[in-house]
Amino acid sequence: MSLVIDCHGHYTTAPKALEQWRNKQIAGINQPSEMPKVSDLKISDDELRESIELNQLKFMQERGADITLFSPRASFMAHHIGDYNISATWASICNELCYRVSQLFPNHFIPVAMLPQSPGVPTKTCLAEIDRCVNEYGNVGINLNPDPSGGHWTSPPLTDPYWFPIYEKMVEYNVPAMIHVSTSCHHCFHTTGAHYLNADTTSFMQCLQGDLFKIFPTLRFIVPHGGGAAPYHWGRFRGLAMMMKKPTLEEHLLNNIYFDTCVYHQPGIDLLVDVIPYKNILFASEMIGAVRDIDPNTGFYFDDTKRYIEASTLTKEQKYHIYEGNARRVFPRLDQQLKAKGL
Ligand SMILES: [Zn+2]
Repeated sequence: MSLVIDCHGHYTTAPKALEQWRNKQIAGINQPSEMPKVSDLKISDDELRESIELNQLKFMQERGADITLFSPRASFMAHHIGDYNISATWASICNELCYRVSQLFPNHFIPVAMLPQSPGVPTKTCLAEIDRCVNEYGNVGINLNPDPSGGHWTSPPLTDPYWFPIYEKMVEYNVPAMIHVSTSCHHCFHTTGAHYLNADTTSFMQCLQGDLFKIFPTLRFIVPHGGGAAPYHWGRFRGLAMMMKKPTLEEHLLNNIYFDTCVYHQPGIDLLVDVIPYKNILFASEMIGAVRDIDPNTGFYFDDTKRYIEASTLTKEQKYHIYEGNARRVFPRLDQQLKAKGL
């Protein structure tokens, strides 16, 4: 029996006090006298427990997932709001809550950090939070927003030296990054229906165009939501790589890029596992996230992605790698923590 490790979970069910504090913080940007203190936010352990037990943990147990890599709510990162200090305070609060959840449920949740990114601000400003989250909170990965402007794409591509301080830190700690945007503030792009999938596809293409992994051969990115359009258009991307005189995609990208299984129907998963080598696929559901309903065609939740993996043509061995083996390899600090627990 494999462990089932869901590498993509967010704290979408945090107690309302968190959102209320954030709204005050946003109001305080223009009205400094209204700016709340960090100490104004009070959430008890019981409230945290309840918010998890009735939601993520319940679904994990019903669906047969053991461990979730748990990061702050992605759409609430909203790096475009305010300046660096606003983002830094917000990231620190959100990361601390995920850490507390991981302490309350040590067998089920392992934290992944959001970064205090802000558009146009040097990325070295994120390093102290990475240090804190890895060293003090036991975070095993980070979420990196390739577009902190929220849909306006004002930052350089991921292959640009702008991002290198974060990559150097990732290499030092041997932690991967999930490439994950936040809410869209561009009226043309729906947050989870367009902006997320655009960003997945865009990030993949940026890596294809560049030679980032020659500079950082051990850097690892997870492109979520099944890789956006990448697997579906694999032929196009292979052809583009040839035209750009790049090596094959396997050689150029697949030692460093992984896709998750947040694809909410069987034909999508079937295509993913057919096109992408199983060594590059990590189990994930992003549950209680973008799509929260039951699929009337199947009678099961759209985000119950384990069912699709089970129903696919993957062998038992391949499923082991998707559920557990690949996650241990891509998140070595997760592997260490699991081994320390005897898992
Ligand atoms: Zn997500």
